[in-house]
Amino acid sequence: MSGKSFLIKTFGCQMNDRDSEIMAQLLGEVGYVETSVTDQADLIILNTCSIRAKAEQKVMSLLGVLRKHKKKKPGLKICVAGCVAQQEGDRIIKKMPHVDLVVGTQNIYQLTDLLKDHEANSVATSLVADYVIPAFIPDFTKGKENKVLPVLFRKFLTIMQGCNNYCSYCVVPHTRGREVSRKVSHIIEEAHALVEAGIKEITLLGQNVNSYGQTNSVSDIKDKVTFAGLLREVAAIPGLKRLRFTTSNPKDLSDELMCCFAEVENLSPHFHLPVQSGSNKVLSAMHRKYTRELYLEKINTLRSYCPEIAITTDVIVGFPGENAEDFEETMSLLEEVHFHGSYSFKYSDRPGTRSADFSDKIDEKTKSERLQRFQSRQDEISLEQNKSYVDKVFPVMIEKNEGDSKVGRTGTNHLVHFADLDNSINPGDIVQARIVHAGQHSLQGKLHITNKDEI
Ligand code: SF4
Repeated sequence: MSGKSFLIKTFGCQMNDRDSEIMAQLLGEVGYVETSVTDQADLIILNTCSIRAKAEQKVMSLLGVLRKHKKKKPGLKICVAGCVAQQEGDRIIKKMPHVDLVVGTQNIYQLTDLLKDHEANSVATSLVADYVIPAFIPDFTKGKENKVLPVLFRKFLTIMQGCNNYCSYCVVPHTRGREVSRKVSHIIEEAHALVEAGIKEITLLGQNVNSYGQTNSVSDIKDKVTFAGLLREVAAIPGLKRLRFTTSNPKDLSDELMCCFAEVENLSPHFHLPVQSGSNKVLSAMHRKYTRELYLEKINTLRSYCPEIAITTDVIVGFPGENAEDFEETMSLLEEVHFHGSYSFKYSDRPGTRSADFSDKIDEKTKSERLQRFQSRQDEISLEQNKSYVDKVFPVMIEKNEGDSKVGRTGTNHLVHFADLDNSINPGDIVQARIVHAGQHSLQGKLHITNKDEI
């Protein structure tokens, strides 16, 4: 396979970004070289997302475009991976017979074997409960021969896959399977390798990190290791400047985890805690297994441990059965928590989910009005929150220092733009910055102390 080139197009969440990195490295290990030019590619992989209808339609239309490429280049191999691959399996081949390979979310580690003994139109989408995530040590050079590598200073590190919560609207348990936690030794080994490779910030990744190590038989977890325990172990790695994690389900948010924000120095004071709705009736129909009151209690506890913590969330508007009062509950929750930011979406039916069969669907117009109202109020609150940072000094990890693009990020996950930055300051460096202006989605900063190594 050496000398062949590949192109991976990634859709959706950080989990998919991470899986694309793994596939790129596996291909690099058998001689493939990455390209970003479609015409140069011998293998094109679409790593897909099916969280919303729109995401899936995007994949299908792109596969239509690739049909023309394949006509011009018959040797071109087309592979569909990720959640649409898992969800649709051989239906993709039926609809798009020019697709050579469909690889499921638990099958990415077999990619090169599947390519090697490749039969036409093969599908590998087995989803097994006792799946063990293989060990994986990232090698950022693999598959990137002759490429100028960007300065890498932060990385996602997957600690688990799948979810057991079966929220009634969500495809994840159907496309990523039941919760599987990676072995502690594999995670620690990978985290050490990342820090040794110069990574300053690690984000621990999972669909519901709070239940790490709680649900599946992870052979080397003799004593139940909680997520908080794992977090402290990773945080203790010398040279790791910042630690983050995503995503959490409020029902599994323990006090043990929340107090880490008061005790673990390099744990960044930002928590993304999806609430989805402010109405208990809707939360119950969503099968979220917590109430508005419990959610608020967790928020208050978090803020008691870490008053400066920035809290962001996810919200779905227009869930089946959501009436005007229910929506007002979501609006009042926004007021009460004053989220620093949020990702909000209109509900859409997803194949295989329970809510797709629910009655009392909300019309598109109402959904759009609710979304627009929620987002404009959120924007006002985000600006208000951002203004509270003006004239204060924060440690900012620089992300880019090229030409006009001089930008970094605070521990609270706020983007900070700089008009000037000394050329000796590199991505991954931490500088002290005084915030001089606040916008809706970012801040303006001035260097306060250029002592790069000070957190
Ligand atoms: S907790 Fe998250 S990933 Fe799991 S089913 Fe619910 S929405 Fe999906």
